[in-house]
Amino acid sequence: MTRDEGWRARVILTNMSGVPQQNTEKTFYLETFGCQMNVHDSEKVVGTLVQEGYRQVESVEQADLILYNTCSIRDKAEQKVFHRLADYKKLQAQGKKFGVLGCVAQQEGEKIFERAPHVSLVCGSASYRNLPQMLTQLEGKPHAGDSVPVDSGFLASLGMTSVGNDVGVTNRGSELETRDSQLVRITGLDDRQTDKCFETEFTARTNPHRGYITIIEGCDKFCAYCVVPYTRGKERSRTSQSVLAEARQMADLGYTEIQLLGQNVNSYRDPDGKKTFAELLAAVGEVPGIRRVRFTTSHPRDFGRDIVEAIDAVPTLCDHVHLPVQSGSTRMLDAMQRLYTREQYLERIAWMKAATRKISITTDVIVGFPGETEADFAETLSLLDEVGYDAVFSFKYSARPNTPALKLDDAIPEEEKSRRLDVLMARQRDIQVARYKNYIGTRCEVMVEGHNQARGQWIGRTSQNKTLNFTAPQTASPKIGSYASVLVTRSFPNSLVGELEDAATSCAENAREMGHAVV
Ligand code: SAM
Ligand code: SF4
Repeated sequence: MTRDEGWRARVILTNMSGVPQQNTEKTFYLETFGCQMNVHDSEKVVGTLVQEGYRQVESVEQADLILYNTCSIRDKAEQKVFHRLADYKKLQAQGKKFGVLGCVAQQEGEKIFERAPHVSLVCGSASYRNLPQMLTQLEGKPHAGDSVPVDSGFLASLGMTSVGNDVGVTNRGSELETRDSQLVRITGLDDRQTDKCFETEFTARTNPHRGYITIIEGCDKFCAYCVVPYTRGKERSRTSQSVLAEARQMADLGYTEIQLLGQNVNSYRDPDGKKTFAELLAAVGEVPGIRRVRFTTSHPRDFGRDIVEAIDAVPTLCDHVHLPVQSGSTRMLDAMQRLYTREQYLERIAWMKAATRKISITTDVIVGFPGETEADFAETLSLLDEVGYDAVFSFKYSARPNTPALKLDDAIPEEEKSRRLDVLMARQRDIQVARYKNYIGTRCEVMVEGHNQARGQWIGRTSQNKTLNFTAPQTASPKIGSYASVLVTRSFPNSLVGELEDAATSCAENAREMGHAVV
């Protein structure tokens, strides 16, 4: 399906465990590493596999096909994937097939076959739309270790040509390879140039009340430390028409919260030129039935005042903005190729602080980037004080393949990175202790997300994205996915505690039992 054909959805059978049930023998297991983008990619991959007649299972032992959707943003994440592959290598003898999807797949490409020869499928996120064809190949052709004659008609149908004993590939998007006629490996390694988005007819959303919609894929910003532009391809947006069609479908199915996703969600450019990002936000917020709209991650360079104006004007837009700063030092921001200064970043913070609604602000910080001095680090700490974030996701700099930062001198020793991280987290903890105290005595609307039996508390999430655990009288049993008003009585550095005041805001349409809609 092309981007312009728009997005269509159907509901297929679901069950209580989140595993779509189909009467089929083909089974798969999928494990996901990394960010929300990866989680949502996996929801779409599951939808695609179910559509192809597969049934999701909950353990590697039960599966015919074992897939890992990988993350390579930091070294540790990447290592986990190879450990998993090594752990389960012995299962190949039972005829199980292995696939590596996502960022590690794109980054390492065919090298994965050398490091883990039992892998049959390597597919980067920019090639997910070709998954159905790749699955056909995987099923129709024996996998690694089997001898296969390559059928030229079959290859032609995939846009490939056969040259002698080798397979000459005419389409990097979906490759079938033979090596000395002994091996069939399937790769989907679309390069940065693809301008196609992964729009699926089916998405196996794992939560029936709130769900993600990807509006923009890839990244063109090339920060000096980051692999994303190399692993996820160039920046490409979906049409606003297609995004809104998906939002309406979700609302029809009972979803009340939508989170718009993109590596840089606010770099969104409608290919049809109909809506700016702020206008799209407002339009999703105005879809009947939608009560909350979130968006992540925003990039400071593309963060305009119109986004703040939209939050002020449309009550369904959540009063929370995640705006990664990375460093409080303009010198480091320059070295990181972020292309904004501390002052420009603070200007955007000032717009949010001037809003009528109280906007909660969160950020990402990297400590120990090459060349970061004590003075640079002190500037990051002072920025935390100045902004007063509600949460900070802090990371030690991790050197990544292909990135320009690899060439920089003055690497910071690991122990020093750890020390700075500890200092930063302690400072932010103090800031949060003070900030969260301010909520005591206020009323917040929460979406009810669960129940903690042991603590006798319900788990709620506020529009500002804070966890607000609350107690309720025995007679009141808030439904998961409903909305309730809670009086805040206590605070912790990362969460609030309160008492249910009014469960009357519960939506009737949310009363359905926890299940897993496959949209
Ligand atoms: N596009 C977003 C932005 O520019 O702010 C960030 C997306 S990135 C997937 C998520 C976060 O991972 C970044 O904000 C950064 O803090 C962190 N990160 C990325 N590359 C890193 C690296 N090489 N080492 C440590 N942290 C890294
Ligand atoms: Fe990575 Fe920078 Fe792109 Fe964010 S903007 S995904 S940090 S390259």
